[in-house]
Amino acid sequence: MPQSLYSKCYNHPSFDATARCKQCAKPICDTCKVISPTGVFCSETCRDQNKAFTERMDQMDRNTPPPGRWAVRFKSLVSRLILLALGVFVIGVTLHALGFDIPYLSSAIAWVLDLIPGGAAETAP
Ligand SMILES: [Zn+2]
Ligand SMILES: [Zn+2]
Repeated sequence: MPQSLYSKCYNHPSFDATARCKQCAKPICDTCKVISPTGVFCSETCRDQNKAFTERMDQMDRNTPPPGRWAVRFKSLVSRLILLALGVFVIGVTLHALGFDIPYLSSAIAWVLDLIPGGAAETAP
């Protein structure tokens, strides 16, 4: 019964529930929502319980790393970083080419160009 998933708030029977506590699965309304980076909870107690639980799971993960999961996580992190760096670099190069001089970015671009063989080698003493 999917409709009963979000019925009425556990604390406010007259309010419509808009979410479910990630820890105890109680239906909760916007007023009761405790939003944290790990999810939406009905109370700080649940949030802390879930945090402790997640930390324990993370520790277990570290002790016995499942072969595939780590690689997938690492890959997505790396690809995200590459995309970010690429985006910043492209924007930086574009602005640089247009004649804008961005203090930190320009030196970063110079540094990256320096890494490319045959690049801006003229800066060498
Ligand atoms: Zn809860
Ligand atoms: Zn409520």
